[in-house]
Amino acid sequence: MIAQHFINGAWSDIGDRIAVEDPGTGEPIGEVVLADPTCVDKAVVAADACAQRGELTRSRPAYRLSLMLQMAAAIRAVTEEGAEVLCRESGKPLRDARGEFEEAARYFEYYGGMADKLEGRSIPLGEDYFDWTMREPHGVSAHIVPWNFPVGIAARSLAAGLAAGNCVVLKSPELTPLALCILVKALASTDLPAGAINLISGDGAMTGAALVRHPLVQHIVFTGSVPTGRAILRAAAERIVPCVMELGGKSAAVVHADADIDTVVASVESGVFFNAGQVCSAMARLIVHESLHDRLADAIAARAEALEIGHGLDDPDLSALISGPQLERVEQHCAGAIAEGAKALTGGQRVMRAGYFMQPTVFTEVAPSMRVANDEIFGPAISLMPFSDSAQAIALANGTDYGLVAGVFGQDINRTLDTARQLEAGQVFVNEWFAGGVETPFGGTGQSGYGREKGLEALDNHLRTRNIAVRLNR
Ligand code: NAD
Repeated sequence: MIAQHFINGAWSDIGDRIAVEDPGTGEPIGEVVLADPTCVDKAVVAADACAQRGELTRSRPAYRLSLMLQMAAAIRAVTEEGAEVLCRESGKPLRDARGEFEEAARYFEYYGGMADKLEGRSIPLGEDYFDWTMREPHGVSAHIVPWNFPVGIAARSLAAGLAAGNCVVLKSPELTPLALCILVKALASTDLPAGAINLISGDGAMTGAALVRHPLVQHIVFTGSVPTGRAILRAAAERIVPCVMELGGKSAAVVHADADIDTVVASVESGVFFNAGQVCSAMARLIVHESLHDRLADAIAARAEALEIGHGLDDPDLSALISGPQLERVEQHCAGAIAEGAKALTGGQRVMRAGYFMQPTVFTEVAPSMRVANDEIFGPAISLMPFSDSAQAIALANGTDYGLVAGVFGQDINRTLDTARQLEAGQVFVNEWFAGGVETPFGGTGQSGYGREKGLEALDNHLRTRNIAVRLNR
């Protein structure tokens, strides 16, 4: 399969190509065409022309609603085909790849249902004035997505952007561009106007950089790493383009003395081993009451060692990392942690087999100053740190530059909710990591970024408010 560009309603394969690998085997499975600046320009001009024609906005908003419900159905119809491709290119288990397509369909239903409810308000200014606000799309919105959840992340910003009436240029990630072509083909099988959604594939240095610098781009949604986020913000600053930044994390859960151990272990399994830990909101740190620490550490290590490792198509508990360089990075992080004095209770090394597999890894004896307690590893590794009182636990949890999500486990409602209130993160999970859904706002504080995706709040990013103030001549 070749990941092509979809521009103004037509597919094109013009550009240099690089290979796409199956990280579960290390074998090539396809190619991706790299969009050069001319190609990027065509995509942005097509989106701008569609926005100028007002094709998404000139009809009654129920048009966008019905279009987006068609899209949700079209996504469900390609789930099996798309999930297999996503599984192969990302390494993730087939069930999770299916889940990502289902999540994508949900975004189109959820935001489609909002497309006819984006109302302004009237503002009383006394009898000599009539004043109201309108909520309008930005125009051309550029969306840049990472490789870890390409379909889910693209769908969440596409759906919110489209509901708001924006025309989008989506840049796929170079490591996982294939399943996104299936998603976009499904969207294009509906009554989608030409130019309303354009897909370009390519790398960051050429394709991504040309997109964010393009003079017709009026809004940017970026999901990815902090250094890339900074580079995009610098480019956006030149033209004062509004941005949404969904960046990395080093999220922590606080485990109080009265927490249910089985509940915590189940949450660790999904929190740090789901997608092989390549999740921005992974449970990277566990701050555990000293009375539970050793028992919980042993239980987590036992669960980690029991995980079945395998190719995504076999639906394993733990799948491959995305690439050779990513495996190298994760292994180096783990070696660095051990060199700093952390203890690998289990794991810490690659798995010797074809593909890019990392052992599930549990660190104890982690000091807050160590890199392993502060840097995003983006692999299946968790660090446990003991605490003796709640204030210390909260200080440890809040002690990094990030603030994407956080969690707390405990039975005492007062203590548990008081901890939740004090955790500095955009979303706090209580007694279940990853509680929430497409309906709940998600996004960071600090170096995890700003703006919100998911939930009704995401629509605020995709709309701008205009005020009309009228002086009445009575
Ligand atoms: P990355 O920053 O390397 O790449 C993300 C995307 O940006 C890719 O499509 C890439 O091609 C593009 N890009 C790279 N340089 C660019 C440039 N100069 N201009 C424009 N585009 C450019 O990130 P990654 O390695 O793909 O993903 C991992 C990172 O993403 C982790 O830090 C993770 O925490 C973060 N992430 C965050 C969220 C979230 O919602 N907060 C979700 C998933 C991943």
